[in-house]
Amino acid sequence: MNGQTFDEINELHWNLGLLQNLDVGLVVVDRDSYICLWNGFMENHSGTMASKASNQNLFELFPELPERWLSKKLQSVFLLNNPAYISWEQRSYLFPFKSHRPITGGAPLMYQNVTLIPLPSPTGQVDHVGILIYDVTDTAVSQQELQAANSQLQSLSRVDGLTGLYNRAYWQECLEREFERFARSQQVSSLVMFDIDFFKKVNDTYGHQAGDMVIRAVAQTLQEHARKTDVVGRYGGEEYGALLVGTSGENALIFAERLRAAIEGLLVEYGEHKIRFTISLGISEINIEQENALNWLEEADQALYKSKQSGRNWVTLFGDHD
Ligand code: GH3
Ligand code: MG
Ligand code: MG
Repeated sequence: MNGQTFDEINELHWNLGLLQNLDVGLVVVDRDSYICLWNGFMENHSGTMASKASNQNLFELFPELPERWLSKKLQSVFLLNNPAYISWEQRSYLFPFKSHRPITGGAPLMYQNVTLIPLPSPTGQVDHVGILIYDVTDTAVSQQELQAANSQLQSLSRVDGLTGLYNRAYWQECLEREFERFARSQQVSSLVMFDIDFFKKVNDTYGHQAGDMVIRAVAQTLQEHARKTDVVGRYGGEEYGALLVGTSGENALIFAERLRAAIEGLLVEYGEHKIRFTISLGISEINIEQENALNWLEEADQALYKSKQSGRNWVTLFGDHD
């Protein structure tokens, strides 16, 4: 044995040792998808030993593999002599291996990035392709957790922190959507805006915390009176809006009057104090003369202003002349 051959064999040996212990799966297949190499990672995760896998057809040995899809990918690697990459975002995994951390990791199966590399022979002909399997479960799980947290944040930002009602931005978005929908469907809806009467006095007399309790109590009563299809929001400090989808102005009057009476009957206890208060409301029914959602809102606001002028604790429907 001359030196060169020894070196070559040694190199082969080291390489094989490396491949065997690599923390990446390596499968080498020929043009007919027969397995020529099956490393330790694959043995550990599939439970199939290299001695059993070698010279077996990959798809016969693992019928759960997506044969049509993988065959096509392999063919193009053989043909073009170019590697191919498949990320877990396109396909969660190729081999259905159990995840190492099914409980804490949050994934029952191992997420995988897959690389297919052409392995040309010394003559340049590609008769083998290497399939590399990378375990990317940690990355995938943390990315998914991040996405879940983001969508939770998004939903949080729709909600007003003090009352749990929709915040102004989101509520207004809903209002605009409803206005656009009306142009197509002609389904009537009404808008109720209301404001707590003499609220500054509550703050001045009992303090800001008591004021906050009152704001929350009104929100809760509003929610109790609203239907599932109604969209209720906190428009400003102590101003609220209720979008009553599919409700006429006349029926909105009934809703508003009930709400007015319910709030008049509320009693918020703050220490030894019992706080009573009222609201004034304005209603506007959607109609074809309104140019945009803001118009619709302005009409409800004008009606609310009229209720304040009429002595407060009152309901006004825009356009009603009595
Ligand atoms: P009116 O009957 O005309 O509505 O009289 P008002 O005293 O209620 O007057 P206005 O609606 O202008 O008062 C709003 C007050 O609400 C002013 C502000 O100090 C208070 N406010 C706004 N946001 C909050 C809040 O989040 N918490 C508390 N406690 N007070 C708030
Ligand atoms: Mg007020
Ligand atoms: Mg106000």
